Amino acid sequence: MSRVYLNLGSNMGDSFYYLLNAISKLDKLDMTKVTKVSKFYKTKAWGYKEQNDFINCCVELETKLLPYKLLSEINNIELSLNRIREVHWGPRTIDIDIIFYDNLRIESEKLTVPHKYYKQRNFVLVPLLDIIWDKKQIIKYIDKNSFSELKEYEYSKKIGISACLLGYNVKYNGGNNYTKLYAQTLKLDYLKICPETFGGLSILRVPSEIKGDKVFSKRGEDLSEEFKIGAIKTLERLKKYGVDIIVMKSKSPSCGYGKVYDGTFTEKLIEGNGRTVEFLLENNIKIISY
Ligand code: ADP
Ligand code: MG
Repeated sequence: MSRVYLNLGSNMGDSFYYLLNAISKLDKLDMTKVTKVSKFYKTKAWGYKEQNDFINCCVELETKLLPYKLLSEINNIELSLNRIREVHWGPRTIDIDIIFYDNLRIESEKLTVPHKYYKQRNFVLVPLLDIIWDKKQIIKYIDKNSFSELKEYEYSKKIGISACLLGYNVKYNGGNNYTKLYAQTLKLDYLKICPETFGGLSILRVPSEIKGDKVFSKRGEDLSEEFKIGAIKTLERLKKYGVDIIVMKSKSPSCGYGKVYDGTFTEKLIEGNGRTVEFLLENNIKIISY
């Protein structure tokens, strides 16, 4: 395993959503885990100044991906989050830079590691200091004034999340989808939801899949109404707490985003959204799929 430090920044759209989504996608990469996340900081733009403030953070990864493979995965994540690059050092929904990759030194056209400018960038040094194991390595580059340039950013709303991801036993088989990233590493103010239980389905239940415009259990019962109620109750709960970002368990007939099972109970995925996700998207809730 290699230990890697990244810096993430955003200053377009809902920056906190883009950062959280990028962190979730990094954690889902093959042979990769996000092991630490720094605090979030608000910073003035660097380079090209006529743009909004940035929100920045740093993350620590443990990965078996080699540097160029990791760089290409990072570029894919940037692309998938609609990064529109018009001005060099201009506004972006998400920017992800590799700061350190173990103790490697690389200097090529595509990749410079350690990152070329990290010593001059307080928005890299200050968050890095939160999480880096060898603080001596970077503290020498930080002067006292650096800290006043960065304001700690605390997201003021709750983040919705599928309760199973936090380890609650609400899956059809009585199990959960415990995910360390949310349950331990990222300590956010979470609002737990589970559309199936909100819809009145019991915790031990027969699995269900979407088929056309209905949802059926494996036994053939039509559960469309239960899934519809689950979606409505989820939105009501999010509205009640002013939540507009939600982390949802992938592939489920309520929470799946982009892909769901095809209705034949044979583990085949097709394009589509779960019932709750579809309804939340219509109501401008931002989804992160895990
Ligand atoms: P910046 O990150 O300096 O604001 P960009 O994100 O637009 O600018 O940089 C684009 C290019 O920088 C990428 O295509 C990538 O190949 C190259 N690059 C070189 N070193 C690194 C690094 N350590 N991390 C990320 N990208 C890097
Ligand atoms: Mg970059």
